[in-house]
Amino acid sequence: MRELLSEQMIQTRVRELASEIRRDYEGKKPLLIGILKGSFVFLSDLIRELNMDLEVDFMATSSYGDATTSSGVVALTKDLDVAIEGRDVIIVEDIVDTGLTLSYLCRTLDQRLPSSLAVCALLDKSARRETEVQVDYCGFDIEDGFVVGYGIDYAQKFRHLPYIAIIEEEVHE
Ligand code: 5GP
Repeated sequence: MRELLSEQMIQTRVRELASEIRRDYEGKKPLLIGILKGSFVFLSDLIRELNMDLEVDFMATSSYGDATTSSGVVALTKDLDVAIEGRDVIIVEDIVDTGLTLSYLCRTLDQRLPSSLAVCALLDKSARRETEVQVDYCGFDIEDGFVVGYGIDYAQKFRHLPYIAIIEEEVHE
């Protein structure tokens, strides 16, 4: 296991993302939707840096389980508690990999007629994309490899790490 992004690097980037979002949503009250479970640490830091009028809700999709490769199948396991029609919605994701999860989420949320829909992802493995998705606010573009820490797990472990580490360099051959 090797450190990929230090606590300091993450904090600095989260602060930058927050100021971009604050500027873009000035005078609005965005609804930030955290995708469980991996995004909860990022989301909690992000909203404190945003320091503006906002709301938070959560959704959960089927995940990798305990394996390190994607099944490619996406299912909604927890839906929102609130309606989003007419709202300015920002999806907050931990990692965009193939893009399948995000593309499913965007389609699902678009049907509910939000006033706007944007995506904020801490990590983007853009080279692995299988379907086109737009990431409006991206923390770091990273190479392939399985990462953990800062809310992101491997078999439910390592979420507590304040930094992001890579545990396998090439798991997706
Ligand atoms: P996608 O649908 O874009 O292929 O997958 C996105 C989801 O896969 C992420 O939200 C995350 O839950 C999981 N994922 C992708 N890469 C990694 C990784 O390196 N580590 C962990 N723990 N999960 C990952």
